[in-house]
Amino acid sequence: MKELIFATHNINKVVEIRSLLPAHLSIKSLVDCEITQAIPEPFDTIAENALEKARVVSKMVKTNCFSEDTGLEVAALDGSPGVRSARYAGEQASDEENRALLLKNMINNNRRDAQFKTVIALIFNDKEYLFEGICEGALTENEIGQNGFGYDSLFVPNGTHKTFAEMELTEKNMYSHRKKAFIKLLAFLNANHG
Ligand code: IMP
Repeated sequence: MKELIFATHNINKVVEIRSLLPAHLSIKSLVDCEITQAIPEPFDTIAENALEKARVVSKMVKTNCFSEDTGLEVAALDGSPGVRSARYAGEQASDEENRALLLKNMINNNRRDAQFKTVIALIFNDKEYLFEGICEGALTENEIGQNGFGYDSLFVPNGTHKTFAEMELTEKNMYSHRKKAFIKLLAFLNANHG
């Protein structure tokens, strides 16, 4: 059984990634490693932030690890909140506050297309790799659904009429940006490291 450290404190992300793991791979989150230190996201792109998190954590844990950074890019808002998705309504903003601000900024806006972008940064045997996953869809005008986290209740992926928050995880995984990125990581591990 191989083990990778997942450089996140976000339990929602951990649950999603664990639902995708093959039998021969397990992950430990920063919570499992008892690392409480917040990992900075200082850069202007999702990829740079993902890489920075992986670099910081790989120095701490001294073993193979990956991180991920995700943003919601809204076409009518020139790609915002994007890399600032977690801090859209302020540095310490809650998911609820971020969603409220997004709905406010989209009032009377007929252009609703948006996409989630996830970049996973893997540090494996001291080398760095990036894997991207995108899910295109549209924003609702109100919150719909109780499941998931973050902006899930505002986002309907293309190919369905439900928000992510109306789906069970197995259904979210049929469309998910995070799954698309993680599948690429798994393919890399399979191809290169058995
Ligand atoms: P970060 O990747 O932890 O920086 O998250 C960026 C922001 O996007 C946070 O507000 C998260 O709650 C939100 N977010 C991340 N992944 C998802 C997702 O899969 N669905 C909905 N919101 C998400």
